[in-house]
Amino acid sequence: MDFQLIKDSIPTSPAFVLDEGEMIRNLKVLNMLRHRCGCKALYSIKALPLSSVLAIAKSFVDGFSASSLFEARMADEILTGQGSIHLTTPGLRPEEWDEIARLATHVSFNSLTQYQRFTATAGNSIGLRVNPKLSFLKDERFDPCRQYSKLGVDIDELWQSSSLDQVQGLHVHNIFSATDFTPLIKTIEKLRSYFGKSLARLDWLNLGGGYLFNQISEHRSFIDLINRLKKDFDLEVYIEPGSAVVGSAGHLVATVIDSFVSDGKTVAILDTSVNHNPEVFEYQRQPQLYEHDPKGGYSVILAGCTCLAGDVFGEYRFTKPLAVGEKVVFKNTGAYSLIKANRFNGYNLPDIYIYQDRQLKKTKHYDYQEYRRQWCAD
Ligand SMILES: *Cc1c(COP(=O)(O)O)cnc(C)c1O
Repeated sequence: MDFQLIKDSIPTSPAFVLDEGEMIRNLKVLNMLRHRCGCKALYSIKALPLSSVLAIAKSFVDGFSASSLFEARMADEILTGQGSIHLTTPGLRPEEWDEIARLATHVSFNSLTQYQRFTATAGNSIGLRVNPKLSFLKDERFDPCRQYSKLGVDIDELWQSSSLDQVQGLHVHNIFSATDFTPLIKTIEKLRSYFGKSLARLDWLNLGGGYLFNQISEHRSFIDLINRLKKDFDLEVYIEPGSAVVGSAGHLVATVIDSFVSDGKTVAILDTSVNHNPEVFEYQRQPQLYEHDPKGGYSVILAGCTCLAGDVFGEYRFTKPLAVGEKVVFKNTGAYSLIKANRFNGYNLPDIYIYQDRQLKKTKHYDYQEYRRQWCAD
């Protein structure tokens, strides 16, 4: 992606730019895995449910995975029957179930009580989300296997119940942003040691998301693992990445609207805020910046434009002073940014552009009427 071209051609910011070429490169990695081990790939649409993302992804994947009725509806609208829709959520509610059962081809119930409460239709393949009780994450906020977990049926409880004999599939998701397959290998080992040959009774195993397939160069261990699973148990294996599809394909462009010195450091106020990428604040994670040069002689704190004191992206280094009116680009903000964005303080959401064939195309602009519709009761 030509970041300078993007900066020169975007008339107004903040702007979210989707790089189609990068997204296709990521999808081709999934395609390669599909061909080399016969796994099936779904795009987890919660990472970024933009219709253009879904339309591009559609021809590279076997379907979408969804976490709610709205996501299932959107998945269905784009897939028009050409692909599966897998759904798992702790949030199933009785009044939505009929429609979810009509839209989803595969449902993985999150608990045994959920499984007993909802009756599937003939069109659904039913599975259970299992909590393998293997933690690979230090921060328990992301760890589906943390103590008192709300995600999935405890593997020991599943082993003691007879439920595995009654379902068609198992779902497991216990990692976030992994760049090697060790957690997956250990998880499969544990499933094998608990359920052994019973796995052969299943039609499918969904291994969830969380692996950055696009950033892993050595796929051999994954391919071997899936080949062995398919050979030993004769089942379909699904993966459902979100970040690995869109994370590196989205960028946020902002403009410096003010600059001053505070306690001896230069602070630049941007026309965006952490509300356009809330994980920056939630997880205190500094996003990558295209202009940052670790050897640059000018240090600047990039801050958002809202009232919150902690609405700050972080301190970056530049090779020349950063002037008011200049643009900056936060890189790799495709996943879990725009979908979590809000209009706190009444600041508008970013415009949305697609970058394809060295051309920028504006696909979305929000206006005051949308802000008004959200907050006015009339
Ligand atoms: C969030 C989630 C995914 C996608 O995770 P990524 O980290 O974006 O790959 C897939 N499956 C489940 C069940 C999830 O909760």
